[in-house]
Amino acid sequence: MAKIQAIRGMNDILPEQSPVWQFVEDTVRNVLGQYGYQEIRMPIVEQTDLFKRSIGEVTDIVEKEMYTFEDRNGDSLTLRPEGTAGCVRAAEEHGLLFNQTRRLWYIGPMFRHERPQKGRYRQFHQIGVECFGMTGPDIDAELLILTARLWKSLGLGGHTRLEINSLGTSQARKVYREALVAYLGQYKDQLDEDSKRRLETNPLRILDSKDASTRAILEGAPSFDDYLDDESRAHFEQLKALLDAADVAYTVNPALVRGLDYYGKTVFEWVTDSLGAQGTVCAGGRYDGLVEQLGGKATPAVGFAMGLERLILLLETLDLIPAHVTSNADIYVTAMGEAAVPQAMVLAESLRSALPGLTIVSHCGGGSFKSQMKKADKSGARYALIIGENELANGTVALKPLRSDEGQQEIEQAKLATTLSNVFNH
Ligand code: ATP
Ligand code: MG
Repeated sequence: MAKIQAIRGMNDILPEQSPVWQFVEDTVRNVLGQYGYQEIRMPIVEQTDLFKRSIGEVTDIVEKEMYTFEDRNGDSLTLRPEGTAGCVRAAEEHGLLFNQTRRLWYIGPMFRHERPQKGRYRQFHQIGVECFGMTGPDIDAELLILTARLWKSLGLGGHTRLEINSLGTSQARKVYREALVAYLGQYKDQLDEDSKRRLETNPLRILDSKDASTRAILEGAPSFDDYLDDESRAHFEQLKALLDAADVAYTVNPALVRGLDYYGKTVFEWVTDSLGAQGTVCAGGRYDGLVEQLGGKATPAVGFAMGLERLILLLETLDLIPAHVTSNADIYVTAMGEAAVPQAMVLAESLRSALPGLTIVSHCGGGSFKSQMKKADKSGARYALIIGENELANGTVALKPLRSDEGQQEIEQAKLATTLSNVFNH
C-alpha cells in the first residue's frame, strides 16, 4: 500500500530542528517579557466572516489563500491565515479592550494556500504582537525598538533592515486611490495582469508590483506623500524622531502598502537580503479602525507578525545558530555491567538535582564499553561518566572528556557535582 505523506507545504519539525525553534521562541518570549507583553492563546479556527470582514474581501489572503470548509452543522469556518483578527475578536469578546491598554502576543501556526517554496509554506508559524488602546506614535516606536532588540538577541543585528511608511487615514487613502486610479487608468493596457485586476479591486497594492513595465509607469504616478493628512504626517514625523533618538535605523519606503486592508498610518517591514524573494521576516502596522469594524468600540491598535520559518532559515543561512543550542547532551552517563546500573542512575539523578542547567543523558540498554562510548560521542556531550566494577568498589567515577585530548580522570562520586559545576561554568 502507498504510504500516506504530509500535506504539501505543511512541514514536520523534526527533533534535530526543534532546539532551534525553542531557541528562537525562548528568545522572543524573554524579550517580550522584558517589555511587559502578555501572552494570549486563540483557537486555530474561526468563523470565515471574521477574516473576510477584517483582512478584506479583495486581498490575496481572502481571495485565494484561505483554508475554508464547512463544519458539520453547515457553518463556514476557516483555518486562521493570520492572528490579528482572532486576537481582536478574543480581546473584544472578553472585555480586554474597553477603557484600558493592552500589550498582547501570541505564537502558533497559520494557514495559507500559497505555492510552497523556500520561506513560503501552507502551514507556517508566526509570533504576533498586538497593542490596544494607545494612539502612538510612542507605542509604534516601542514595537520597532523591541524588534531591534530581538534581532540583536538572536545574533541577527545588522542582517535585517527596517522599512517604514505612513498610509495616512482612510479618508486620505480614498482621495489618493482615486488619483492613482485616474493616472493608472490611462496606461491600463501596459499594466501586468495582476495590476489590471487590482486597478478595480485594490489599486494601492499596484504600488508594490514587481513587474518592470508596471514599475516604469509607476515612476510618473501621483505620490501618496502629497495626499497624506496633517495628523498622519505629524504622527509619522514623531515616529521617525523617536526611532532616531533610540538609534534604530530605517528607510522610508513609499511603496510599502502591505497586503491587508485594515492598516492605516504607520506600516513597517523588517527585511533581509539573504533569503531571496521571501525576504520579509516581520511586518506590521497600525490598524485603528479594525476593532470598530468588527463591532467593538473604536480602539487604536498597532501590531506586527514575524514568520518563524523565515527567521530560522535566516539564522541557518547565515550560520548564526549558537553551538550550545543544537547540542542535546552535556554529560552522558554509562554503566559497565549490570551491577553498575543502579549506581549510575542514582548518580545521574543527583547531578540533575545539583546541576539543573545541564542535560544529563543516561545510557539505557547496556552493551559493550565500545558501543556505549560510541553513543556517548554521538550524543554531542562534552563528557562521559563511566561507572564500572572498579568505580563501584571505590566510590568513584571516571570522567572522560569527549571533545578534547585531556585524559580521563577518576573522581570521588561525592565531589563530582562540584567538579562538573566548575568545568561547565568556565
Ligand atoms: P509575503 O509578502 O511574503 O507574502 P505577507 O505580507 O503575506 O508576506 P504577512 O501577512 O504580513 O505576510 O505575515 C507576516 C509574516 O509572516 C511575513 O513577513 C512572513 O515572515 C510570514 N509569512 C507570511 N506568509 C508566509 C508563508 N506562506 N510561509 C511562511 N511565512 C509566511
Ligand atoms: Mg502573502
